[in-house]
Amino acid sequence: MRYGFGIRLAATLALKPETRHLKPCLNGATLVTPFTPTTDVRPTLLAVLAHPDDESFGTGGTLARYSWMGAHVHLICATGGEEGSFDPKYLKGYASITERRHAELACAAAALGLTSVTLLGYRDSGMAGTPANQHPEALAAQALESVAARITAHIRRLKPQVVVTFDPIGGYRHPDHIAIQRATVAAFHAAGDPAAFPGAEPPWQPQKLYFQTFSRTLLRVVVRLMPLFGRDPRRFGRNHDIDFASLAEVEFPIHARIDYLPVVAARLAAARCHASQGGEQFARGPLAWYSHVFGGNESYMRAFPEAAYGLRERDLFEGVNW
Ligand SMILES: [Zn+2]
Repeated sequence: MRYGFGIRLAATLALKPETRHLKPCLNGATLVTPFTPTTDVRPTLLAVLAHPDDESFGTGGTLARYSWMGAHVHLICATGGEEGSFDPKYLKGYASITERRHAELACAAAALGLTSVTLLGYRDSGMAGTPANQHPEALAAQALESVAARITAHIRRLKPQVVVTFDPIGGYRHPDHIAIQRATVAAFHAAGDPAAFPGAEPPWQPQKLYFQTFSRTLLRVVVRLMPLFGRDPRRFGRNHDIDFASLAEVEFPIHARIDYLPVVAARLAAARCHASQGGEQFARGPLAWYSHVFGGNESYMRAFPEAAYGLRERDLFEGVNW
């Protein structure tokens, strides 16, 4: 799938209702109590991320858990993931890598039980310093205001109480993660302001904003262990462009940990959907094993409202006014 310059796709992937149930993946887990809202307002979570697979590899447990709990869980995916490396065998039956990755995203969305997926249609910018950064359709080449305006319109349409995006360094310094994080922060604060990006939908102010982050304690252990397995912690990932050692030196406070063990099967099923991006390795690799055994949760920094020192939430909807 290709987009001409200046043309943006704002499509919602069609999700088959019969594939949206998580129960078959849950192995009878009953640890999570479904929401019982006291009003007719449905808890609604919006994740604003950059590539097909970010929703599964980074936030999959959280999205699956809230879907299982009865919340509406929406995803905005900004790019088609064109710059992710892949084995050509995964192109069989697809016109382009974007088409393949959108199909993987639809598969993951069904596994996670997402209510909707909105594609912004920008081009993947690749890692910092690569020529793909300069492509006129690249997300990282867009004006922040124009991306923020589009996200603002979607926030007003979807009416989430809680918004989730990347941390200020985009998790591992991917330019698209950083670009969508900045645009989402701007949109979060603009959505409730009638004077900001006025559009068809009335203003809607989400109540909480979270940045997905991860434990540096765990990462430091991984950095020490990797050389023992012959791996260079400064050249991790399929493209060898993730520097774990430098990421271990940047610390963001963790204000919320979301336990995903009750929905771990759904999380793994979603990761496996992204076969072209090593989903199977993610689901089975030593890092996955370590994170399940010693973690079993996904971590967030609360950006709004400002968090008191030492805050430890177990639920992103904690304190939301219904
Ligand atoms: Zn990504």
